This record gives sequence, C-alpha cells and structure tokens, in this order.
Amino acid sequence: MIEKRQFYINGAWVDPIEGRDYHVIDPSTEDPCAVISLGGQADTDAAVAAAKDAFPSWMATPPAERIALVEKLLEIYQSRGEEMAQAMSLEMGAPIDMSLASQVGAGTWHLQNFIDAAKSFEFDRPLNDHSPKDRIIYEAVGVCALITPWNWPMNQVTLKVGAAAIAGCTMVLKPSEESPLNAMLFAEMMHEAGFPPGVFNLVNGDGVGVGSQLSAHPDVDMVSFTGSSRAGKLISKAAADTLKRVHLELGGKGANLIFADADEKAVKRSVLHMMQNTGQSCNAPSRMMVEASIYDRVVEEAGEIAAKVSVGPASAEGRHIGPVVNATQWQKIQDLIQKGIDEGARLVTGGTGRPDGLNKGFYVRPTVFADVTNDMTIAREEIFGPVLSIMKFETEEEAVQVANDTVYGLTNYVQSQDGARCNRLARQLRSGMVEMNGESRSAGSPFGGMKQSGNGREGGVWGIEDFLEVKAVSGWAAE
Ligand code: NAD
Repeated sequence: MIEKRQFYINGAWVDPIEGRDYHVIDPSTEDPCAVISLGGQADTDAAVAAAKDAFPSWMATPPAERIALVEKLLEIYQSRGEEMAQAMSLEMGAPIDMSLASQVGAGTWHLQNFIDAAKSFEFDRPLNDHSPKDRIIYEAVGVCALITPWNWPMNQVTLKVGAAAIAGCTMVLKPSEESPLNAMLFAEMMHEAGFPPGVFNLVNGDGVGVGSQLSAHPDVDMVSFTGSSRAGKLISKAAADTLKRVHLELGGKGANLIFADADEKAVKRSVLHMMQNTGQSCNAPSRMMVEASIYDRVVEEAGEIAAKVSVGPASAEGRHIGPVVNATQWQKIQDLIQKGIDEGARLVTGGTGRPDGLNKGFYVRPTVFADVTNDMTIAREEIFGPVLSIMKFETEEEAVQVANDTVYGLTNYVQSQDGARCNRLARQLRSGMVEMNGESRSAGSPFGGMKQSGNGREGGVWGIEDFLEVKAVSGWAAE
C-alpha cells in the first residue's frame, strides 16, 4: 500500500503537525490503495504562513520569469504523464487510456493555454492613449487557497495553480481527500521545476478541517474552489468574515436541445458525452430535450447506445467507463435512479444495482430515462453518474424556457443544422457556455458558470485575470 503522509510546505516535504490517517479507496476494487494524512489547523497555518512569506518576492518577480517556470513545469508534467495517469486511474477510477488522454491531457492543455495567454498579457499598461499619466497595473491578489475536487483532478489543479503562479500569487492547494495522489505527484513536479519555496504548498485534509480553515483564514486573500454547490455555499459563508475574494466553479444540469434537423451523429455524440468520465462532470449534458417529431426515435436510439456502453475496472485498457469515485456517490446515484422510477419517469435502459458480472467496485449501470418532466428530482439535481434524462418539447420557446428553468447555468448544448437558430439560442440560454453540434471550445476559451453554477472564469486570459487585482495609478511619471 502506498504511504504518503507528508505535506509539501515551504519547498520541502514535512511531517504533519496534527495529522490523522485517511485511507484512499480504489473504486474499482473497494480496497484501500493508499494512506495519507488529513491535516489540522497547525498544518494549515504553517502552509499559509509559508505562502504569505513568499508572496512579496514572487509578486515582484517579472512575469517572464514566472511564465518560464510554468513552461518548465509543463515539460516535466508531459514527461511524467504516464505516472500521473496511473495515479488518477487508481484513486478516482478513470480507465487508464482515458486517464492518459483526457485527464492528463486536460492539464497539458490548460498549462499551455496559460503560457500562450500570459505571453501577450500586459501586466502594466497605460489607461489609454489620451491619459499618459494614468497607469493600470495588474497585480497578484495575494495568498490563494485552491480547493479542488476528485472528478477531473488535474484539470482543476492546473487551471488553478497555472493561473495563480503566472499571476504572481502564492498558494496552498488542498486537493480532494478522495484523490490526493495526483496532486502530490504534481507537487513533486512543482518542486522539480524550481518554484521558490513557499510559492506552492500542499496540505491534505477534508472539508470540515483544512478546507474550512483555509476559507476562514485571515491571511488567505482568495479562495478558488471547484466542487459541490453545498461546499461552495459553506466556503462563501466561512470566507465572509474576512471578505476575501471567492471564486466558485460548482455543479451543473446542462440542457441539450436536440432539434428535428440535428445531424445524424447528434444523439450518439450526446449520449457518449453524458457517459464520459462515468457521468462525473459538472458540464455533462444531463437533460436531453428532444423536439416532439423525433422524440420516439431519439429515445430508442439513446437507449441502444447507452446499453452498449461497457463498464469495467480502471486498470483495463479500452474505451469502457470506470466505477464512480466512492461508496457515497454510488449510493447517491442509486437513490436518484430509484427516485426517477418512483416519480414516474420511464426507464429505457440501466437501472439500480451493478452491471452484470461486476459484484465489487462502485460500478453503475449506464441508465437512460425517458418521459422526464422538469419538476422531477432527476431533472433538477446533479446526479453525477452515468444517468441521462430525456424530455420532450414542442416549440423552441418552450425548449428555452425549460432549459433555463434550473438553479444551474454552466453549459447548455444545441444540436441543429439551422445556424440562425443556433446563434439565437446561444443568446437566450442562461449559462456560462453554450456548445453547438459537438463543437468543443477552442484553446484559451473561458470555462465557468452563471447562477448557482458559480462565478469567475477559468482558463486562458480570463483565468489569469481572476487571480489579479486591477490597480489604477494617476500621476505616473514619464520613464
Ligand atoms: P465536495 O464539494 O464536498 O468536495 C470538493 C472539495 O471541497 C474537496 O476538496 C473537499 O474536501 C472540499 N470541501 C468539502 N466541504 C468543504 C467545506 N465545507 N469547506 C471547504 N472545502 C470543502 O464534493 P463531493 O462531496 O466530493 O461530491 C459531492 C457532489 O458534488 C457530487 O455529487 C457532485 O454533484 C458535486 N461535485 C461537483 C464537481 C464539479 O466539478 N462541479 C466536482 C465534484 C463534485
């Protein structure tokens, strides 16, 4: 069993001051695969103190030097990709091929996009051409607490660490206690890249412990959090007394509007997108809304496609989906599937229990419900499992109204070959992102939500700006 009880503070691996053992569970087998330590207040304080001490000189380090270190980090990250893929696969259940291509790949993508965005970013610029004595300086926010989830671990860690480091912030990362191994490997890479001591620190812990301590800490200037709306609300409350900046990336309940003129691959693409990462994505297209004239055909096709999605252990090669992350999530998904049945949705494929032949491990049957109405629990709550809800609509107006009738607003999707309609809907759908016809966002495009999906944007230039303060100087002398 892997034993990794230490934290990375002030440029060195140190023993916990108040550590408590915590077993990381391999979701493919339900067996413990590693022991880590959950820190306490003294560990949190030590990490924050290191970040605070390191801040003045890191903030004053020229951006070009900060960018060069992130470039070095990216080089190391790429060279150790296989190791990183193995860590994530083991602890959160992403099948190994998907872990390498998508989970590790997401980190490469974000770091590269930050480097590209930062190279043309003017951290120090005149206000405009007419006010030579007015200067705008983009300055690091300060000490940042980065609290990340287990579902796309490196995606989230790189989105936060890459942007914070380039902005000149120092930081304490608290990864999810469910998936700490990838973050500890990442800390090794930060060390190898040569970031000055204290710029990056890592403390493992749970939400009520280190997570809450960081959120309330008087010496933390900003919390950047990705995870559940539940934790997002608690973090916002804990942060209120010190009025720190709080950046939230929370859940979603994405609507996917499939019109009668959708392309022939639209249904398959949509179902597979829902099942990707075993449904554990905040931007999953979990509410499939289908125009009435093609509804029956789409329901049948979606059911057939989902029934063919194979499920298996994370260590096996291939294009199957893995288990969900832990027993709590497995049970929550089971309860929601049962609720869907109880509330009158039509089960097309899947259902409660494990897939045939898998008696151990947190495996869920790929499930499709039809005849879902937007008041049902499965249409309102984020299920975070391979469960698709299909609804019928008659008119475009009705589709927009139902799509927007949710507390969330992260990503909505449209499948239609009518360009004018797509553009019209892009304006009407209340979400931080709208994706048409399977077209993914390009390099440097911002990720984030409206309403209870959060605030702020991650990735590219917007991601860097979120870690910056804007300072206005008047009376700037000519240089
Ligand atoms: P969570 O929000 O509890 O955990 C995410 C991170 O927040 C972890 O690092 C955790 O330790 C920390 N945390 C938890 N409570 C905290 C608190 N009070 N203060 C500070 N930090 C805290 O998520 P979970 O329990 O692992 O998953 C539950 C549900 O959250 C899922 O079913 C899913 O709906 C949602 N979720 C969403 C995302 C996303 O990307 N939007 C990611 C993970 C989970």
